[in-house]
Amino acid sequence: MDYRPNEVGFTLRLDRGEELVETLTAFLAEQKIGWGALTGLGAVDDPELGLFTMKTREYLHRRFEGEYEIASLTGNVTTLDGKPFAHLHALLSDIDCAVIGGHLFKATVSVTCEIDLRVYEGEVKRCADAETTLNLIDFGS
Ligand code: ZN
Repeated sequence: MDYRPNEVGFTLRLDRGEELVETLTAFLAEQKIGWGALTGLGAVDDPELGLFTMKTREYLHRRFEGEYEIASLTGNVTTLDGKPFAHLHALLSDIDCAVIGGHLFKATVSVTCEIDLRVYEGEVKRCADAETTLNLIDFGS
């Protein structure tokens, strides 16, 4: 991966073979980013998507084999247990341009992944929420 800082954050280029979530999270930790937002596009192999269901209060995971375009990657950056955490959702399109989407757990960059990361000053934390059992954004207010 490579990157360039700009007036509002960074533009990142992830490269073929890199695991998207892992590579992005390592960059966030290295740059000590505690609050931000991002959008991106590119292409990945074998993505793992999911959804959180309130029926069982757990994430359902589903892995898709093959090549997909990242039609849209969107997310935010906060901190969880003192470490940067990227909450990512993706819309991915297949060879028929049919789209799947959901919470992005992992995906391997197949060609490239271009991310526009906006960085805000300070830190926003996530804390465990009793009702949902999820780590939700907590502004402390
Ligand atoms: Zn999510």
